Amino acid sequence: MNAKLDSTVTTRPVTRATFDEVIVPTYAPAQMVPVRAAGLDLWDQNGKHYLDFTSGIAVASLGHCNPIVVEALTRQANTLWHLGNGYTNEPVLRLALALTEATFADRAFFCNSGAEANEAALKLARKVAHAKYGDKKPRIVSCLNSFHGRTLFTVSVGGQAKYTEGFEPLPPSIDHIPYNDIEAAKAAIGDDVCAVIVEPVQGEGGVMPGNPDYLKTLRELCDKVGAVLIFDEVQCGMGRTGSLFAYQGYGVTPDILTSAKALGNGYPIGAMLTTDELAKHLAVGTHGTTYGGNPLAATVALTVLETINQPAFLARVKEASEKLIGKLEGLVRDFPQVFSAVRGAGLLLGLVVAEPFKGRSKDIQRAAEAQGLMILIAGMDVVRLAPALIVSDAQIDEADRIIRLAVAELTKAA
Ligand SMILES: *Cc1c(COP(=O)(O)O)cnc(C)c1O
Repeated sequence: MNAKLDSTVTTRPVTRATFDEVIVPTYAPAQMVPVRAAGLDLWDQNGKHYLDFTSGIAVASLGHCNPIVVEALTRQANTLWHLGNGYTNEPVLRLALALTEATFADRAFFCNSGAEANEAALKLARKVAHAKYGDKKPRIVSCLNSFHGRTLFTVSVGGQAKYTEGFEPLPPSIDHIPYNDIEAAKAAIGDDVCAVIVEPVQGEGGVMPGNPDYLKTLRELCDKVGAVLIFDEVQCGMGRTGSLFAYQGYGVTPDILTSAKALGNGYPIGAMLTTDELAKHLAVGTHGTTYGGNPLAATVALTVLETINQPAFLARVKEASEKLIGKLEGLVRDFPQVFSAVRGAGLLLGLVVAEPFKGRSKDIQRAAEAQGLMILIAGMDVVRLAPALIVSDAQIDEADRIIRLAVAELTKAA
């Protein structure tokens, strides 16, 4: 190792300005740089405290540095890190058993992110269609405003044109239909469709819950034409809606389910869950990834799953959700010029921005941050809240107090 490089790079001060010098400018992060966190508490480089109602975009559902997860990860870090796919390992086998026992699925494929889980799901759907129907069934139907990741295939399947601009030519045979529109689904899902992919609750697209009738209709249409139904539960899964997976709350079972984000509580992992019937089409050598099912990630995910998938834990998510929804409805009542509605499910909630503040969700986010509360946006017109699922009643009260302060400042300035 180069001792000189080590001493300068590891000890030299770095600030938000460093980001603008050395990071590819795909993101515009906040000015403050977080350095430490525990639970829903977070501190920046200046020692300022924040209450975190983002959980890193619905990822750290058990809170930052959760001691149970830290213990599991540290134990595994001292035991076995990585093998590659020439070998399996005990943590990944336990995780697959736990996930298949807890869901409709018989089999799991592990990867490192939500995009990769969806990539696997879409590739599987195409493989099944080729095996059964040759080239007669290529079409994939997805929803407008959906988000499925940033690989070229998943971003093309996602329903936000701005994310594919400049990356053409895009993979063909992908159609987009309006979300929650049963007639559009009936018109689009024909015999040449191999897969329908949908978020049971749209996250990035504005925190929009699927109507139960809509998801049921998608199930029926897929059965009718022999297409596979893929639920992208990367954001809404793993307890966020109050069920382990959202499909269980809806009572509509997909053929393929994708998970990531909260599955690893911040340690990168993604999973595609499916049935024996479909899984057999991904035979040896047809798909893979180096880190998929790595012992560290699998250990963390197993710990997270075991913690979340408890009746008392999920009941508390529903209780906290009701409390937070009550507070947000109060905000809509008291600041009608700023917020027009509350929507979402469980602890994935959106405050829809009212007409006078249209396009200004980011300003509301910044004002809250100034007062010490981290929140998310979902597009320019929705403020998104996704606190850790362990959020306390006192923390919900505190978030409400801070949003009120922030909004009062904003409206005073306007
Ligand atoms: C975040 C997200 C993805 C992409 O996950 P990455 O881990 O960022 O690749 C896919 N689908 C949904 C619904 C998401 O919210």
